[in-house]
Amino acid sequence: MAQLDVRQKLEILADAAKYDASCASSGSARRNSLKAGPRGTKGLGSTEGMGICHAYAPDGRCISLLKILLTNSCIFDCHYCINRKSSNVRRARFTAREVVDLTISFYKRNYIEGLFLSSGIIASSDYTMEQLVEVARSLREDHDFRGYIHLKTIPDADPELVRQAGLYADRLSINVELPTEGGLKRLAPEKSSVRIEGAMADVAGHIAEARDARRFRHAPRMAPGGQSTQMIIGADSATDGDVIRRASGLYRRHGLRRVYYSAFSPIPDASAVLPLRRPPLMREHRLYQSDWLMRFYGFAPDEMVDAADASGMLPLDIDPKLAWALKHRASFPVDVNRAPRELLLRVPGLGVKAVGAILSARRWRRLRLDDIGRLTVSVARVRPFLVTEDWRPTTLVDRTDLRQLITSKNNQLELF
Ligand code: SF4
Repeated sequence: MAQLDVRQKLEILADAAKYDASCASSGSARRNSLKAGPRGTKGLGSTEGMGICHAYAPDGRCISLLKILLTNSCIFDCHYCINRKSSNVRRARFTAREVVDLTISFYKRNYIEGLFLSSGIIASSDYTMEQLVEVARSLREDHDFRGYIHLKTIPDADPELVRQAGLYADRLSINVELPTEGGLKRLAPEKSSVRIEGAMADVAGHIAEARDARRFRHAPRMAPGGQSTQMIIGADSATDGDVIRRASGLYRRHGLRRVYYSAFSPIPDASAVLPLRRPPLMREHRLYQSDWLMRFYGFAPDEMVDAADASGMLPLDIDPKLAWALKHRASFPVDVNRAPRELLLRVPGLGVKAVGAILSARRWRRLRLDDIGRLTVSVARVRPFLVTEDWRPTTLVDRTDLRQLITSKNNQLELF
């Protein structure tokens, strides 16, 4: 490996970390102050700068994180990964000390509020995990660092090292990588979903033990932000139904805080077994919506799978809540003046906040369609599913062209 200075390493290792979606900020245009703009000047700021991303802390705050890899060298050869052994990329490696110094210097300048650290595997899983733990240990113990730390654990690392990581980190994550066992075998043959889930179960156990021990004043904390995982979408033939089933199983079995869905994006120097094109970004968005509906709207995983079409894919033109409602029209219309919260949450166009407002307003008076109109983006599109004091749809919800009616003029309901 050529001798690189810290700045060059940062350039390579922050760029290599961008493929991890667990704390991505996206959707911005690319602007760079080093290039002259329309006024001939170089301008101020850049969206192309690497290394700092935004994430949501467990308490909902948006925080800036230094997001880097310890190294982009790896002894594994996962086909979808730009850092795999056979990939022809420029390699770099930080020492644990360099990561600590960078984090502290960025933190003191107020650039960041924490660190998101992942790594390729060097020498062995245990050796790499030891390095990650050392970064977190040194930050906490040598520098009394109180900022946020998110560590990606290394596949097959010794459970004791993972436990130690949890003592220093706010959040741990273990990537499940692909939704199905078959996909993992084909695209990441050195990984095993049994071992990945075994590591998740260990972390879940340590978190539960630590929570239990909180009644003792000096009991150590263990990953108070919980654990999360990431699944790559569109690199294999898994359907949305497969993804939903896997995600719900992970939430149930290991109490995960979040499953992140990352639409596969073709990488430079890609392996021949990968698809040439990325899946539509809307697919990722629909999966996040279905995830949200399961976690906050009371939808069962099977109901979300049921919202998919015959090929097992969620429709891209309408959101999963509307897709489910159109398939279960017998559940509608719902009377906003009588229905319990669970049923109101199933009405396309009503979010958690709107339902809360309905429940509190109806204690004082009977609600009319205008009242609902003030709580939703378009009452014209919600009303097929509602009964109010002055509105009762008769055949609207049974119309065969209801989907077209609702989605006409690209007016797709925004549910949340
Ligand atoms: S183990 Fe991680 S870094 Fe290494 S090739 Fe696989 S996904 Fe990439």
